[in-house]
Amino acid sequence: PKYPIRVRGHVVKGFGRGSKQMGIPTANIDPNEVPDEVLQMSKGVYCGWAQVLGENLDAGVHIMAMNIGNRPTFADADGVTVEVHILHNYGDVDFYGKEMRFVILGFIREEMEFKSLGELVERIHADIEIARKGLEDDDMQHFATDEVFVRR
Ligand code: ADP
Ligand code: MG
Repeated sequence: PKYPIRVRGHVVKGFGRGSKQMGIPTANIDPNEVPDEVLQMSKGVYCGWAQVLGENLDAGVHIMAMNIGNRPTFADADGVTVEVHILHNYGDVDFYGKEMRFVILGFIREEMEFKSLGELVERIHADIEIARKGLEDDDMQHFATDEVFVRR
């Protein structure tokens, strides 16, 4: 893919697994709004910047780790999902129905099947650290003020 890739989409309900089972909430993006160039990328984990639009919500642009794939670790996996974990504590709020905007800037790893939920969670924590490090560079920082984001 050619980075940056800009995405705007609304947050829909997933299986409620991200936060409830793993302590890592992932905002699922309405698949109908995900551009083809994203759906055609290799399944796996990517990093970039994200913002959620909505009253009473933090308006900042924060680092994110995004998964696109079939979630092979889960038995009920079906279809491709695009899920974004934002590295920010929004407090006790949800984003359902809200618009999310993000720029995808890099690839972290291919999708893989884990033997247990614990191994998956451990790997996601490593992915998050890779995203944090990757976005430290000046040439990545400047995308935090990309045109896709709303200035507020
Ligand atoms: P679902 O299966 O419905 O996607 P999750 O358990 O994955 O539920 O939790 C995701 C939801 O948690 C998001 O849709 C959003 O409403 C909320 N949320 C709160 N903080 C964050 C965050 N930092 N990153 C992503 N989602 C968050
Ligand atoms: Mg989710």
